[in-house]
Amino acid sequence: MPVTSSPVPPILPPATLGMLGGGQLGRFFVSAAHEMGYKVWALDPDPHSPAGLIADRHLVAAFDDLAALDELSAACAAVTTEFENVPAATLDYLAKFVPVHPSAKAVAVCQNRVAEKTFLADHGLPHGPFAVIRAEDDVRRAAADLFPAVLKIARFGYDGKGQARVANRDEALHAFHGFKGEVCVLEKMLSLDCEVSVVLARDESGSVQIFDPVENRHRNGILDVTIAPAHIGTMLAERARGSARRIAEELGYVGTLGVEFFVCDGELYVNEMAPRPHNSGHHTIDACVTSQYEQQVRAVCGLPLGEPRAHSAAVMVNLLGELWYEGGRSDGAYHEPDWSVLHGVPNLRLHLYAKHHARPGRKMGHFTVVADDVAKALDVALAARAAIGISGDAP
Ligand code: ADP
Ligand code: MG
Repeated sequence: MPVTSSPVPPILPPATLGMLGGGQLGRFFVSAAHEMGYKVWALDPDPHSPAGLIADRHLVAAFDDLAALDELSAACAAVTTEFENVPAATLDYLAKFVPVHPSAKAVAVCQNRVAEKTFLADHGLPHGPFAVIRAEDDVRRAAADLFPAVLKIARFGYDGKGQARVANRDEALHAFHGFKGEVCVLEKMLSLDCEVSVVLARDESGSVQIFDPVENRHRNGILDVTIAPAHIGTMLAERARGSARRIAEELGYVGTLGVEFFVCDGELYVNEMAPRPHNSGHHTIDACVTSQYEQQVRAVCGLPLGEPRAHSAAVMVNLLGELWYEGGRSDGAYHEPDWSVLHGVPNLRLHLYAKHHARPGRKMGHFTVVADDVAKALDVALAARAAIGISGDAP
């Protein structure tokens, strides 16, 4: 008889799981874990963090606070993250005492645009033209056909922050000064047919479950609307799934992973990866057999991954902080939006994150409309988006 290594037994309820980060992605993880009978401790420095509010224990501490990390690892059977900027050293430290998924190595690739682009290039994964900018000279030497371009700081950018659109070399130099010497990537500005993303989950045995690709429409660099499934051909959808799967495999990834793509002249380019559930996977709560958050719980606990099949088409609309201000302007009067407008819409589910204070551009909640087909879901969702008072063109 061949000797087979016995599989690691799964972590079962009522075990306690650890969550690094207290944002809405963490909050949905806490809800999913609670539904499944687990307890969750969240670590986040913000005393009002949305996940901290509903976690069984909220450690209000910095991500590099060793005493807090010791407490977390002593209490938890496994630790995961919802925040891609958790220091790799924190994940490495925790991993000495408790299983941590995804690994520090995988998170490190996703949290630095230089490491991310290098990873894509090294593995022959499709990506747009770019240059690494460490000094002014790198801007001067960058290929002329990169312009017009987007200059992005390598670390800590999100929701379009830490980015500047630059028409030419002079503007790029100016923007680089503005970023105060931070290492950057200079990306060719692509003319996008559309943007899509793929969310998947991978477990320790290497099995992968992939949600259908979705289409994402942004406004001011922030996700506005997600349409599920994406209206792209089956060939492109298969390629998106294939690239996302390869990324997860090459990273040795365990957990839920989001991969953003640009579609440009019918070709697919990886934009970036998120080592956590993704905003464009929120609809999986209401439209799929297993949500991206339940998949994260399952992957982290060593349970078999769930079925990602969608039982409805869905459209998700983000609710940003400007909705709390009269006229959508930060100097306008502050008031709670009239949620009854949304509660009256059939097949619409509203999710609010209980954030302490709304700021323009801050993700405060979202709603998902489910329907038999995408066109119907989009009609209802865009009408609801206008009715609640989201200003600007429907995407
Ligand atoms: P983040 O989501 O971390 O803020 P992204 O790199 O995804 O940063 O950029 C945000 C959005 O800006 C993208 O989803 C896309 O709409 C737009 N964008 C970013 N880079 C490019 C590019 N090279 N060409 C065209 N549009 C871009
Ligand atoms: Mg992005």
